[in-house]
Amino acid sequence: MIAEVSCATVASAAALAWGAFERNSPLFGRVQRRLSGGEAVVALTFDDGPNAHATPSILDTLGSEGVRATFFVLGRHADRWPSLVARARREGHVVGNHGYHHQKLLWKSPRYVRDDIAAGAAAILRAGCDRPTLFRAPHGQRNPWVTAIARAGGQRTVGWTLGVWDTARPGAPIIADRVVRGAGCGSIILLHDGDGYDPDGDRRQTAAALPMIIRGLRERGFSFTTLGPT
Ligand SMILES: [Zn+2]
Repeated sequence: MIAEVSCATVASAAALAWGAFERNSPLFGRVQRRLSGGEAVVALTFDDGPNAHATPSILDTLGSEGVRATFFVLGRHADRWPSLVARARREGHVVGNHGYHHQKLLWKSPRYVRDDIAAGAAAILRAGCDRPTLFRAPHGQRNPWVTAIARAGGQRTVGWTLGVWDTARPGAPIIADRVVRGAGCGSIILLHDGDGYDPDGDRRQTAAALPMIIRGLRERGFSFTTLGPT
């Protein structure tokens, strides 16, 4: 009997961990993990910005290539560089909410989660953008109330299909190669124009990889889209 109880405890603890750590897990509510439809379309998404060095370069590349992307901006970085958030919106990109403090939400209370999501949305509004309709949790980590709280705030929770560890700075050609090889129809691609913990973090490799990413994906026949509203 004791063994059965501990097995059940382990099983539910494992389920809880899976729901929290698996970014696309449905256990804690619905998360968009890829684009609907089977077309050769991908969505480039950038987290943790804006960043004074990488974001302008990324916006320059997107503009010159005619590609639109989705930026999940961090509230405290948006407050530091609101003009970059405004520029992204002005140039036709979608601005989504990545919260304010970039704390992992797994063990955070409903009040903390609600406040962090609201503070992130408020920073986006202060930058002159519309109220966000998309939310991505830091590290994709959720708990049973994150998705529901985001939805109550008018935001759909978004995960991703393909991450390439660009934050580890393996070199721009490697970042580009991982994206170009790894993408499939409907992939939501996770990249980083900022550092969730260091406002001055170095994301220039991601910026340098972007022209190669766009060229390589186009050669594979992909076109680009943004994530739509809720
Ligand atoms: Zn992040």
